[in-house]
Formats: sequence, structure tokens, C-alpha cells
Amino acid sequence: MLRVVVLGAAAGGGVPQWNCGCEGCRAARQDTRLQRTQASIAFSRDGEHWFLINASPDLRQQLNATPRLHPKPGALRHTPIEGVILTNGEVDAVAGLLSMRESSPFAIYAHEKVLAILKSNSIFDVLNEKFVRRRPIALDRAFEPELSDGTPSGLEVLPFIVPGKRAWYLEGKSHPGGSDGVGDTVGLRIADKTSEKYFYFLAACAEVTDELKARISGAPLVFFDGTVWRDDEMIRAGLGQKTGRSMGHIAMSGEDGAIAALAKLAIDRKMFLHINNSNPALLPGTDERKAAEQAGWQIPSDGMEIVL
Ligand SMILES: [Zn+2]
Repeated sequence: MLRVVVLGAAAGGGVPQWNCGCEGCRAARQDTRLQRTQASIAFSRDGEHWFLINASPDLRQQLNATPRLHPKPGALRHTPIEGVILTNGEVDAVAGLLSMRESSPFAIYAHEKVLAILKSNSIFDVLNEKFVRRRPIALDRAFEPELSDGTPSGLEVLPFIVPGKRAWYLEGKSHPGGSDGVGDTVGLRIADKTSEKYFYFLAACAEVTDELKARISGAPLVFFDGTVWRDDEMIRAGLGQKTGRSMGHIAMSGEDGAIAALAKLAIDRKMFLHINNSNPALLPGTDERKAAEQAGWQIPSDGMEIVL
């Protein structure tokens, strides 16, 4: 069995974003049900031992809202979180690690590119390596994450390359892990080794290649990059100069968009994740939301739980 909890579905900044007065952010200030924290999921095969994919700046709030991830009753210090798998080095994927200090043992799994970013930023030394192991993961090499007591988890994680970009704050700067671009953004296939249930996590993806289509076709569940509805929506809304593409994110709509690219693949459940507050598909009742749902996509709320 695989149990997945969507801890947060929003892109960087969340919904509402602290300094944003766009339609989506305004609506979310009026109606808290529309609020979403920054993208992260938790998964487990036994409901007791959990792994996170990415640690968002909202991690503390996400853990408070998720009883499954609280310390077990009677324990003075405990966490069910055995590890965090990082898919990139963006602020919204790594900043939550800083809330995981206090000497609880767990492991961070990331490509060497991303580990190099953590290493070069001394603030991450608050995670004492005596307790928090840092494990490099390699592309196309499946691994079995360990529980914090060293026993095998029974899970299998396969990292693979997806078209993407280096972290935004490293644009035009020297990358502490080297500049070849490989490993800056990875996709993950997560499987329970016993039941062989599996899902894909692709919260950042710049382009759907034929190779990627072949890989995810037939999957029971895919989390996919839902940052923007249209590539230029932030510019059109007067929110900034960034296009989705310039940030390494494919749009939901359009001929080259994610909805069209995945339309013919046999995937049981398709969920958008990492949805920016400028994206009109976030708001119930919009034409964009209806179009996404009619195409078989779900826009998850924080806290949604899925069992495979
Ligand atoms: Zn906004």
C-alpha cells in the first residue's frame, strides 16, 4: 500500500502570497478554504514511517495540520518523518529543512547538485550531520531509503532527469555543484516494493518529451507541474516579468501545455501541484478550472490523502 498526503499544493509564495493583491490571493484572504501552502507531499507504505518530497517554507504549518506526522503519543521527542527527498534546490523545496533542526535523526536524499547548494550555505549546518545524514542520489539509479534506525523502508525511489532549470537565485551565478545543468531538477518514481503500487512526482517540468510520456504512461497517479495556466500569465496580470518557461515550468494550457501533452496517456489520476497564485485554475468555478477538470485533472487542496 502507498499512502500519500498532499501537504501543500501551491507554488513559491503560497496562496495568498504575503505581498500579492491578485485576484486569487484576494479571494484566498476572504475565504480560507482557498488558501494553500507551498508544494510538498508526504508518503508512507505502513502509515507509521513517512518520507517527505521537498521541505517547503510552510513545513511547520503543514506538520501541525497533519496528525499523521505528529510525534507518537507518550514520546517526549519523536517524529514519524524518516527522510526528505529533494527534487531541486529552490527556496520552496529546501527552506523547510531549517524547521527540522533540534537533533531528530532523519536523512536528506538529493542529487549532488542540490547537496552542494546545501553545503555552500552554512545556515543548513543547523542540521547537525551527526543526526541528519545527507545521501546523494543518482539519476536512473533506484534506491531504497532507510528508516532512521537503519532498517530498509520497503520503498523504492527512482530519480530521473526532467527538463528544468537551476534554482532561480542561482541564475547568472556560479553554481556550487557545477554548471552542466544535470541534476538541478529531478522527477521521482515512488514505489512500494511489496505491493508494487507506485506514483510519479514531477512538480517542476519545463517540457514533456516523448521519453517522459513513455515513462509515465500507464501510471496509477501522477503529480505534475501546474505552476501557470498560460506561459505569460504573470506578465499579462502585471505581476512580474517572468514567464513560466523562464522559470522552468510548462503551462497547463495551450498546444504545448501539460493538459494537451498528457491527454492521450493512460494515467488513472492526474493531479496538478506547485500551482502559482496567479493561476486561474486555482479558483473554483473559473473556465480554466472547468477545462482542467474536464480534461481529467484534479487541483488538490492541502491535506488531501490518497491511498494506492
Ligand atoms: Zn497573488
